[in-house]
Amino acid sequence: MNKVISVIIPAYNEEQNLPLLTEKLYRLFERLPYSLELIFINDGSRDKSLDVLKQLSNQYNNLFYIDFSRNFGQQNALRAGYDYSSGDAVICMDADLQNPPEVVEELIHKWEEGFEVVVCKRRGAVQNAGAFKESTSRAFYRLMSFLTDIPVEPNSPDFRLIDRKLVNVIKDLNEKDIFFRGLISWMGFKKAVVEYDHSVRLHGETKYSLQKMIKLASSGLTSFSVKPLHLAMYLGLIISSLSLLYIPYAFISYFRGETISGWASLIVTVAFFGGLQLLILGVIGMYLGKLFMQSKQRPEYIVRETNLRN
Ligand code: UDP
Ligand code: MG
Repeated sequence: MNKVISVIIPAYNEEQNLPLLTEKLYRLFERLPYSLELIFINDGSRDKSLDVLKQLSNQYNNLFYIDFSRNFGQQNALRAGYDYSSGDAVICMDADLQNPPEVVEELIHKWEEGFEVVVCKRRGAVQNAGAFKESTSRAFYRLMSFLTDIPVEPNSPDFRLIDRKLVNVIKDLNEKDIFFRGLISWMGFKKAVVEYDHSVRLHGETKYSLQKMIKLASSGLTSFSVKPLHLAMYLGLIISSLSLLYIPYAFISYFRGETISGWASLIVTVAFFGGLQLLILGVIGMYLGKLFMQSKQRPEYIVRETNLRN
């Protein structure tokens, strides 16, 4: 019996990309001594992705789909993929062919060498990604390494292989709002990095709106560290001590008879502290919100239908 490798692919409005990606993967696995289990997670697509997937599943062996009841986001789609996969190793990648299927073979070779986690790292910039996406992505990784103790490889998207051992750990976690790049780095195990050239998206446009990017970034930051909470405390301390300097200033002004002229500084201080308090409340609110969502124990995704057995 061949070992099984699962490939899990979240897809949100990717109807045009699915057939070619599938064909490339099956062609690749013909040359490899493993059986392929290909699982697509249809994340509430509004195009014909589901129909395309159903058709593909009639055409290919071991091609499965999990259809979500609505859009739950890529990270939750990945979670479903890990939950349903049965392979000895699980590879996740994007549906838009930006993660070249050829690199999959390299991931598998590293796994054969004994590495339990193989992450991909983009060589150079993403073509056509736009300067905005590039710079925000860079800022995010810098902030992440400053605010958390988790070494998240910069420029490594959700394109990686993990061994069954890690998949089992993930399945047992009951953590909500998972940020997989951070979680997998936090888990440890023997890790290798493979560099690859990120391609241009084949069809369609990015499914990551600015709003989704901000959500992912703040989930990543607050999942792995309470440092932002500490930061709020230090910031508060520093500013309060600085504001003590106002006391001698007030005395001097009083003896000089200039006390009424303090309006400008007063308004500045009020505005500044108002802003600061909102900022700190916001940080606390973010963590509280996480606790609230976690305490409700709602599932992270709802499956409408699937052709998988479990
Ligand atoms: N994706 C998803 N749900 C979403 C957004 C994206 O399943 O809500 C999938 C998308 O179909 C693709 C992958 O996640 O397979 C990466 O998204 P995209 O290529 O749009 O992101 P980018 O490469 O532009 O960062
Ligand atoms: Mg993409």
